[in-house]
Amino acid sequence: MSRIVGFETFDVRFPTSRELDGSDAMNPDPDYSAAYLILRTDAEDGLSGHGFTFTIGRGNDVQVAAIEALREHVLGRDVEEVCADPGIVNRALIGDSQLRWLGPEKGVMHMAIGAVVNAIWDLAAKRAGVPLWKLLADADPRWLVSQVDFRYLTDALTPEEALEMLRRGKDGAAARETSLRAEGYPAYTTSPGWLGYSDEKLTRLAHEAVAAGFTQIKLKVGADLADDVRRCRAARAAVGPDVRMAIDANQRWNVGEAIEWVKALAEFDVYWIEEPTSPDDVLGHAAIRGAVAPVKVATGEHVQNRIIFKQLLQAEAIDFVQLDAARVGGVNENLAILLLAAKFGVPVCPHAGGVGLCELVQHLSMFDFVALSGSRTDRVVEYVDHLHEHFVTPTVVTGGAYQTPTTPGFSAEMFPATLEAYSFPDGSFWRADRGEV
Ligand SMILES: [Mg+2]
Repeated sequence: MSRIVGFETFDVRFPTSRELDGSDAMNPDPDYSAAYLILRTDAEDGLSGHGFTFTIGRGNDVQVAAIEALREHVLGRDVEEVCADPGIVNRALIGDSQLRWLGPEKGVMHMAIGAVVNAIWDLAAKRAGVPLWKLLADADPRWLVSQVDFRYLTDALTPEEALEMLRRGKDGAAARETSLRAEGYPAYTTSPGWLGYSDEKLTRLAHEAVAAGFTQIKLKVGADLADDVRRCRAARAAVGPDVRMAIDANQRWNVGEAIEWVKALAEFDVYWIEEPTSPDDVLGHAAIRGAVAPVKVATGEHVQNRIIFKQLLQAEAIDFVQLDAARVGGVNENLAILLLAAKFGVPVCPHAGGVGLCELVQHLSMFDFVALSGSRTDRVVEYVDHLHEHFVTPTVVTGGAYQTPTTPGFSAEMFPATLEAYSFPDGSFWRADRGEV
């Protein structure tokens, strides 16, 4: 029997704000960061589990502290047992009654749970010798249902319904896996549209995106309407009429303001408006959706848990579910969210603007295609082309599609040299940056 014997955390920060990469109307100068965890075991295979939470700089130390608060739930656990049933860890962490007071199931503590749970899944997939999407796609439907916490969901989705959907998902799964391996999974790119980029850079990157095979781009909006009109016009001219153009306000607006602003930009054939208002405002999203059609409404990167997603779906408030691999309580809760989306027939277009989020979330969408919704229609995974070089098995996007990962695990692992250099504040990059070489 082997045990988890190491629980190592890192406050990893990259200086992305200097190039305004990732800038938007709410987050003008993000330093993409990861509160990063390595689980080590005493097993002879030498495999380790990696997980992280994405933040944008200040507060990453708080996020690391929240992960540290979970240490005693994990150290000493039986590796075979938790890899055979990651739900054990999920339930133990969600069920810590004292820590639960800090949520419940939302915010910094819940994101910390996601980092730990995802590290367990990374370890489980590595030990199984398969990429995570494949582990999930091949899993017995009853076992998958056992991984989901249905508390607060059963008015919208019961375990019996989930089991039925997952059983149906097995029909044709082998053929879908073959096509996934051959064609990959559709991506769209946000890289041209960061708010801090000049019109020249926006236009150049939009041209490059189309040339690279992308059929959808996204622009950040919401700071200044005249600027948005000018930028949307430039982007539409660059990509032509046949490429989808989404816009993203990053929660900037009140409900009425959102409606007026989106209507003012609709002439540029806007595909979706993302995060028009507070991620907690279910009825606000429903009002916006009703008013801005045929522009579609998308949200999810800041939706704190499965319960809010349930309400967004029940209220017919969104056209796309933008789940995030590291915002909620890890793979187990994202299974619940994928099942809810499938039940309501709403496409999942995951959020991936961050460090490592592309690496993680591709696995969830690929599982969904092979063994749950069975569809790639109107489904795209976000892609941003930053910081992939820090990952041992980075995402590969070619021809506008995520290529299917084949390496065992959850693609979460950063190089040791990256963890050393970018650990804040005493990694070699940050020391050199302060002139302390
Ligand atoms: Mg967004």
